[in-house]
Amino acid sequence: MDLTYRSTRGDRTAYTASQAVLKGLASDGGLFVPDQLPRLDKSLEELQGLSYQELAYEVMKLFLTDYTEEELKACIAGAYDEKFDTPQIAPLVEKHGAFYLELFHGATIAFKDMALSILPHLMVTAAKKNHAEHEIVILTATSGDTGKAAMAGFADVPGTRIIVFYPKDGVSPVQERQMVTQKGNNTYVVGIRGNFDDAQTGVKKLFGDQALAGELAAAGFQFSSANSINIGRLVPQVVYYVYAYTRLRAAGQLKEGEPMNVVVPTGNFGNILAAYYAKRLGLPIAKLICASNENKVLYDFFRTGCYDRNRDFILTTSPSMDILISSNLERLLYLAGGQDAEDNAARMRKLNQTGSYQVTEELRRNLEDFYGNYASEEEVKEQIARVFREEGYVLDPHTAVASCVYDKYAAETGDHTKTVIASTASPYKFTRSVMEAIAPENAGGEDFALVDELSALSGVPVPQAVESIRTAPVLHDRTCGVEEMKATVKEILEI
Ligand SMILES: *Cc1c(COP(=O)(O)O)cnc(C)c1O
Repeated sequence: MDLTYRSTRGDRTAYTASQAVLKGLASDGGLFVPDQLPRLDKSLEELQGLSYQELAYEVMKLFLTDYTEEELKACIAGAYDEKFDTPQIAPLVEKHGAFYLELFHGATIAFKDMALSILPHLMVTAAKKNHAEHEIVILTATSGDTGKAAMAGFADVPGTRIIVFYPKDGVSPVQERQMVTQKGNNTYVVGIRGNFDDAQTGVKKLFGDQALAGELAAAGFQFSSANSINIGRLVPQVVYYVYAYTRLRAAGQLKEGEPMNVVVPTGNFGNILAAYYAKRLGLPIAKLICASNENKVLYDFFRTGCYDRNRDFILTTSPSMDILISSNLERLLYLAGGQDAEDNAARMRKLNQTGSYQVTEELRRNLEDFYGNYASEEEVKEQIARVFREEGYVLDPHTAVASCVYDKYAAETGDHTKTVIASTASPYKFTRSVMEAIAPENAGGEDFALVDELSALSGVPVPQAVESIRTAPVLHDRTCGVEEMKATVKEILEI
C-alpha cells in the first residue's frame, strides 16, 4: 500500500510521495504530510551493520513508497558518492561531553547537502514516473545555505531550472560568493533587498499565484520547491539520525534500546522535525532539544504556547537561523493537534494576519518531547572559544548555538542521556565570526586571508568548496526589491 500525502490545511486531494515531491507545496498553501507516519520494518540490530547508503534506502523507502527499489537505490547512489569528502558521509565526533554529528562533508559544506544532493534525483525520477510535461522551475528562498546546495544539485540537470532568492545583506561573505559564482546554464541567483522571511513569504506567494501558474503552464513550465517545505527535503534528513544511533550502538556507546537526546540548531524547523520523524519511526530518542539564536521565537513558543513573530529581526553570526517564521513547525503542530486541518489552517491564517497565534493546553501536552532554549551572540562567541581552547575543535556559529544550548539544558535538568548535536556547517563557511571568537587579534584581514589563518590555527585543511571559490568569476549580479520578485521570475523565464 502506498502512503498518501495530503495538505496540512484541508485540501483533501491525495498525492503519492513522488507527486508530492514534484509539486513541493500544496495548492492551498499547506505542506504535504503522510496520512500516517511509518515505522521501521527492521530491528535496530539489523540496521546497525549498514553503510550510510544502505541505511538511507531502508529509511527512505518507508516514506517514498511509490518509488521502486531500483529507482530509489539509483537516487541514493547518485547523491551520496565522492561529492562527500568522507565515506562515512556523516561522521560522529565525540567532544565536550557530546557527539557532534558532522553534516557538513558534502559539496557546499553545510548540512543542506545531506538532502539537496538527493532531491534533484528524486525530482527528476518523479517527473519521469508521473509523465510531467513541463520543465520544472525550482523556486527557492535561502538564508544562505539552501541556495548554494540546491544549485549545486540542480546545475545543468536536464528539464530543470533553478531560481534562488537570498537576502542581499543577510548572508556571510563565503555564502554569497558561493552563490554568485555558481556555474550552470539553468541557474539564476537574485539578491533581494529584504530579509529571509521576506524572501520566503515572497516565494510562497508566487507558489499560490494562480494567474502566474496559468502563464507558466502556457509557456511549458511548472514550479517546484527545494526548500524544506518539500517533503523530499525532510525524508533524507531522517536518515542521519538513525545512522547516528546505529553508529553509537556499534561503538558500544549505547546499550540495546537505550535512548539518546538530540540537539538541533534550528531555523525553519526542518532538521529537528526530521529528528522527530525518526523518533516516530521507532528510534529511541528521548528529548529533542531545539536551539535558537537571538531570533528566539521557537524558545518563546515552547515556553508559553504562543508563537509570535511580531519582533525585530536580528542579524546574527548564525544567519541560516535568522528566521521568524519557521515553516515546518506547521507540520509538527498539525500532528500534535490530531491532524485537524481546519484548526491548523485557522492558526496559519492568524499568523498571516496578526503575526501570532496561541495553541491550546491540550496540544501543548503533545509537545513534551521538545525542549527549547537559545544562545545570545556573546554566548555563541564564548562557546566557540571555550570548545577550541579545551578540545582544539572548531565549531561554526550555528553548531555553537546548539552546543551552548546543550550545556544550558544539562545544567538545568541534570539529564546525562547520551546526546547527539547536529553540526550543521563547516567553520570555514563563517570564517570571520569564528576567528573573532578564537583569535580576535588576527581577525582583521580580508575573508580569504582569514581562511588561511584559521587553517594554520586549527590544523584543519581548507575544504575544496572554499578553495574553488577563491578565484572563481562572479556570474550573477541580479538584485530586486521584495515587490519585484514576480516580475523578476517572469523576466528570467521570458514569459
Ligand atoms: C539551514 C541551516 C540551519 C537551520 O536548519 P532548519 O532545518 O531550517 O531548522 C542551521 N544551521 C545551518 C548551518 C543551516 O544551513
